[in-house]
Amino acid sequence: MANVADTKLYDILGVPPGASENELKKAYRKLAKEYHPDKNPNAGDKFKEISFAYEVLSNPEKRELYDRYGEQGLREGSGGGGGMDDIFSHIFGGGLFGFMGNQSRSRNGRRRGEDMMHPLKVSLEDLYNGKTTKLQLSKNVLCSACNGQGGKSGAVQKCSACRGRGVRIMIRQLAPGMVQQMQSVCSDCNGEGEVINEKDRCKKCEGKKVIKEVKILEVHVDKGMKHGQRITFTGEADQAPGVEPGDIVLLLQEKEHEVFQRDGNDLHMTYKIGLVEALCGFQFTFKHLDGRQIVVKYPPGKVIEPGCVRVVRGEGMPQYRNPFEKGDLYIKFDVQFPENNWINPDKLSELEDLLPSRPEVPNIIGDTEEA
Ligand SMILES: [Zn+2]
Ligand SMILES: [Zn+2]
Repeated sequence: MANVADTKLYDILGVPPGASENELKKAYRKLAKEYHPDKNPNAGDKFKEISFAYEVLSNPEKRELYDRYGEQGLREGSGGGGGMDDIFSHIFGGGLFGFMGNQSRSRNGRRRGEDMMHPLKVSLEDLYNGKTTKLQLSKNVLCSACNGQGGKSGAVQKCSACRGRGVRIMIRQLAPGMVQQMQSVCSDCNGEGEVINEKDRCKKCEGKKVIKEVKILEVHVDKGMKHGQRITFTGEADQAPGVEPGDIVLLLQEKEHEVFQRDGNDLHMTYKIGLVEALCGFQFTFKHLDGRQIVVKYPPGKVIEPGCVRVVRGEGMPQYRNPFEKGDLYIKFDVQFPENNWINPDKLSELEDLLPSRPEVPNIIGDTEEA
């Protein structure tokens, strides 16, 4: 098996990653015939996927990029091209392909700003029932007064001290014939590479080109979402001139629950019972995450051993995007034994008559010692 970063495109064509050109061609021809829109109008985007996969894998340069770096290699190596992004998102899943702190180039080659990651604490109830919540945050937006120019048009001048580079190179002589080159941030323009005359500066943003704005996001926490799941608001991160804004990414943080512990789509809880319940049957009620009162019954004759776990089917968490399907609820019984001297010892023989009889005491030969 060839060592590749990602196999999706190979999977689409149904060939192993090490497939030869010939094998690729064969697989492509067969699938393209099968899924051609003229023949198979219900195949959806399948034909597009197949064509895209073949286009990449039949091109040695693209194939190498893909084998080495996967999807990202293709995106960065592709240099754009209309419509590329659609098929990318379609195959690889859209949105977040740069993670936090990653700067990547956007489709049109503009620099892409950083994604902003925010944790979002949610209760288990929220994840069970779904919830819409408003999140207020402050972000940079381009100043509307100057259109992100920082001043009147023409007011922005390239910094002459650093020739627009934002840094200055200084050469220091350490000893005769020995010099050290040092780079430092240009102090005239504070590293911006440009300067704006005081009087031409935009009053609203004071030449900073961006202003802080409070933004309210409406966040939909869907039923069945999980701890660590991301909710992405594309292009909502800080704006800056000449930069395509990154995404705001909310990272769900599930709060601990008093009663339930979650494991995937299943829920677990522990319930304390006494010896009477364990032996004589009982029922109990608990409040579920959506407020329903659930009654669990164990009729007389059913014995609950300490530590045993019983399953209530379909009372776990709803599945994400398929919330009518639910996981299961596991109830672990913690059987509490009575304390010392809970009963007059004279009465114990009555109890003993009711309980299963003791095993025969084996005959002991020789001396004994009391523990
Ligand atoms: Zn301004
Ligand atoms: Zn400068």
